[in-house]
Amino acid sequence: MTRFDESTITFPYTRSLGPVMGAFMTALTDQRILGIRNGDDVICPPMEWDPATGAELAHDFVEVGPAGTVESWTWVPVPSEQHPLDHPFAFAFIRLDGATTPLLHAVDGEVADGDRVAPRWKGTRIGHLTDIACFVPGEEPEVEGDEATEAPGEDGVVMMDYNARITYRNPVPVAVDRAVAASKEHRLLGSQCPVCGRTYSGGKGYCPIDSLEFTPEHDVDLPETGTITNYTIVTPVQYPGQTETEPFIRAFILLDGVDVVLNYQPTIELSPEDVHVGVRVSAVWASPAEEVEGGGGMAGAYGSLLGWIPNGEPDVEDPDLVNRIF
Ligand SMILES: [Zn+2]
Repeated sequence: MTRFDESTITFPYTRSLGPVMGAFMTALTDQRILGIRNGDDVICPPMEWDPATGAELAHDFVEVGPAGTVESWTWVPVPSEQHPLDHPFAFAFIRLDGATTPLLHAVDGEVADGDRVAPRWKGTRIGHLTDIACFVPGEEPEVEGDEATEAPGEDGVVMMDYNARITYRNPVPVAVDRAVAASKEHRLLGSQCPVCGRTYSGGKGYCPIDSLEFTPEHDVDLPETGTITNYTIVTPVQYPGQTETEPFIRAFILLDGVDVVLNYQPTIELSPEDVHVGVRVSAVWASPAEEVEGGGGMAGAYGSLLGWIPNGEPDVEDPDLVNRIF
C-alpha cells in the first residue's frame, strides 16, 4: 500500500481593488450591494468595462437587492475547507432585485430555480464578498453574530488580502521509508546496483541506468564523512510561516570512497562567513530527544541526520571538486 505525504503551499496576496470593486466592497461593510449601470443593464457584481464592447463604464452605481431570485444552482454535498459553509450547500446564480446579471454565491439550504433568497450578513464585515456569509431562503436579510463592523476610512476599502492555496500529495517510495528507518539506527543507507556497480544515496528506488529496482539486498552503508563541493547561503525571506530568521547554509557533500553526492544538506557549527569548497565534514545524528517524528524535511531521506559538522581535517584542495553537484 503506497503511503502519501501531504503538503500545502499558501501564496498570500494583497491586491488593490480599484474604483469600481473598491466601491462595491466598501458598500458591503454597510450591508449594501452595488451594481453598475451599463445602458439599460445593471451589472452586479459591478465591472469596470462593458463586457460586450470593452468600453469603460461611468461610475454610475445602483443599489440592488438585498433579496434576489435563484436562476440556477449546483449542490455541494461534501464541502472542502475552502468553501464558505462547512455543511452541504448550494452554489447559485442569484439575480438580485434591480440587477440584470446574476451574482454567484452560496445558499444555505435546499434550493430550486425561481426561489427567493436574501443575504445572511456577517456581524464583522471587512469589505470582502464573504461579508455575505451566504444567502438564505426568503425576503429578509439576516445578520450572523454580533454587529461589530468598523467603518472603513475616508478612502473606503482599497485593498484585499487573498490566500491562494494548493494542497498536493506525493507518493513516498518504499526505499525512502527504509532509509529513514536506517537513519534511526544512525546508519546512512545507500543502494548499490549489481549490474553497473554504481552506488546511490538512500531513498532512490531504482538504478536510472539499468532500470533495476532496489530491494533490501542492494542496501549498503554509506560513509559518514565527506567533503563540501558546493554550497548556497539562504537568506530567509520573512513570508508568513517562515521559522528561520538568520542566513543558513545548504551544502553539497561528496562522501568518502563512493561516488555519491548528497545535496542541500544542513551544516552544523559552520557559519556562512566560514563555509568554502573543500571543508571536511562528518555526519551528526539526532539524539532520541531530537528525533522528529516521520523524518524528512531538508535532510530528505535521512530522517535522523541533523546535518554535517566540520571535523577538523585539512581542506581538500582539488579544483574539480566544485564540479561535483551529483
Ligand atoms: Zn545500475
